[in-house]
Amino acid sequence: MRYLWKFLTAASEVRQFPPATVPEIAFLGRSNVGKSSVINSLLGEKVAKTSSTPGRTRTINFFSVRRPGSSQSDVIFADLPGYGYAKLPREVTVEWPRFIDPYLTDRRSLALCVCLVDINVPPQSRDRQLVEFLKAAGREFLLVGTKADRLSNQQLRAAVEGLKNEFQAERLLPFSAKTGAGREELWKEIRSVAERKVEP
Ligand code: GDP
Repeated sequence: MRYLWKFLTAASEVRQFPPATVPEIAFLGRSNVGKSSVINSLLGEKVAKTSSTPGRTRTINFFSVRRPGSSQSDVIFADLPGYGYAKLPREVTVEWPRFIDPYLTDRRSLALCVCLVDINVPPQSRDRQLVEFLKAAGREFLLVGTKADRLSNQQLRAAVEGLKNEFQAERLLPFSAKTGAGREELWKEIRSVAERKVEP
């Protein structure tokens, strides 16, 4: 099934967030992890910009997503700024405390954080910090390992186990925007979250 999407807004302040009316999925990851490619793969179109300059998106970009035939959005996708780009220390000192931490901590409709980690590289401290932050905030998260097509099946199994262990997570879903691996599984997770009600 092809989902329909609409760009809602790009927010760099809490007051610019759209109304919290439907369940929301946040996409998080280090710059260049393949976040735009994951979102584009899910929605089947070039929605998120795949950027050649790491760390350029400095806003949370909100997209309304709905099934064909639905009169309103079923779920909102929130594309968060890529983090961990060393040349931009501003992101940690200024932008995260100003609107990203409050988003992750307080956003009522935030139902699932999709945490993207590159399955080809060893665990990164910024990813670990994020996972710790989400656990402390009591947020539901799903680890997704990007660029899985670059590994053999055997390497993939080892990488999944290693990352799960490192992040003390029960699951890690391998994903490839290139081959479509993991796409249906991720949609299944998103659909199950989308069925929830947002408390008024
Ligand atoms: P973002 O900065 O996190 O949004 O990452 P992008 O989606 O722009 O991707 C960063 C780089 O990784 C680009 O060169 C992509 O072509 C590459 N990439 C993204 N997804 C995949 C994938 O599934 N497989 C492979 N092999 N490369 C990927």
